[in-house]
Amino acid sequence: MTDPGSIPSGFERDVPLGQFTTIGIGGPARFFFRAGSVDALRESLEWAAASGIELFILGGGSNLLIADEGFDGLVIQIALRGITVQSEDRYVMVKAAAGELWDPFVAGAVRNRWAGIESLSGIPGSVGATPIQNVGAYGQDVSETIVRVEALDRHSGTVRWFTNAECHFGYRRSLFKNETPNRYIILSVVFRLEVGGEAAVRYPELHRYLDDHDGDAGHLASVREAVLAIRRLKGMVLDAADPDTRSDGSFFMNPILAADAFMEFRRGAQSFVGSDAKIPAFPADDGSVKLSAAWLIEHAGFQKGFVHGNAGLSSKHTLAVINRGGATAREVLALVRMIQRAVRERFGIEIQPEPNFIGIST
Ligand SMILES: Cc1cc2nc3c(=O)[nH]c(=O)nc-3n(C[C@H](O)[C@H](O)[C@H](O)COP(=O)(O)OP(=O)(O)OC[C@H]3O[C@@H](n4cnc5c(N)ncnc54)[C@H](O)[C@@H]3O)c2cc1C
Repeated sequence: MTDPGSIPSGFERDVPLGQFTTIGIGGPARFFFRAGSVDALRESLEWAAASGIELFILGGGSNLLIADEGFDGLVIQIALRGITVQSEDRYVMVKAAAGELWDPFVAGAVRNRWAGIESLSGIPGSVGATPIQNVGAYGQDVSETIVRVEALDRHSGTVRWFTNAECHFGYRRSLFKNETPNRYIILSVVFRLEVGGEAAVRYPELHRYLDDHDGDAGHLASVREAVLAIRRLKGMVLDAADPDTRSDGSFFMNPILAADAFMEFRRGAQSFVGSDAKIPAFPADDGSVKLSAAWLIEHAGFQKGFVHGNAGLSSKHTLAVINRGGATAREVLALVRMIQRAVRERFGIEIQPEPNFIGIST
């Protein structure tokens, strides 16, 4: 790639990317720009296209593994801000710009007694990234409340609105991530939240916590507090003082098997763990079955706190690959591949990483 010479104002060169990621890993971006308006975003896209430079869109950096060599192109951090609210009888339509931070957005909804996203408390990152992998936790996901997504089409340069159905949401998937990766830049998301609605308490773990702590399962603030407390116990709320949170959250997705593949898996697994052992499995769409990636990893020989150089597994959560201090993307990848291989060899199951890999060939 040739050097484009002069760069537009506001652009920086050779910016280390690890500082923008929650796992704290990543070499430099050749060019870096924070886009605070749609016009500025458009201009930076035009410059990249005219200069033949590759592009990467950065949100809050909480779902990324960036190569130690960095990214030889332009990284644009989406810094669009603003929230508008439209009331509609029992519902509010809340439009949030992509660069708004997700958890303060959830906190605001809970304060206003708007139901629909309370179980998604404590998840880091930006609003604009939530439709990408249909962010979810504790039985709730954003596809339940997103009504529209506004996105800039990099191919045509035009802005387009997607309805919920057009986003093709599934478990940690969407049109944006799985069908047209890197094509659309999300500008804003509109959520439909229920005024004074009931909280969603769908996980036994959440019920138990509320029961044990005199929480009120119908009360949004009480459910938010319970979710945050449970997540903290698992190192799933960012905390600079807790090295177990220097991660991408869950690094592996729970695999989903068709019913017959599940029966075959169970027969094989029981030969390792015994026929009486309980193998966690949950009903998913169309009769398929969702397995627990954490269970597979533990039974393939990796326990919480497993160490691999400067990388490792969280001491609180098997699914969280952490940077123990000074870890490289190479070390993380070596650990990830070791875990994938062990699960494949023991159970014949391919567990897939959840984070997006940048500058890393898979
Ligand atoms: C401690 C911890 C706990 C977590 N818990 C959960 C959880 O419970 N559930 C869950 O689903 N996830 C969880 N995550 C993962 C992560 O927080 C979410 O996926 C989050 O939505 C990522 O947002 P981000 O802004 O940080 O995106 P980034 O990591 O910056 O980017 C992720 C992807 O989205 C793309 N992207 C970002 N913004 C835009 C945009 N405006 N337009 C187009 N593309 C964009 C990027 O190019 C990249 O491909 C957790 C992560 C951590 C560190």
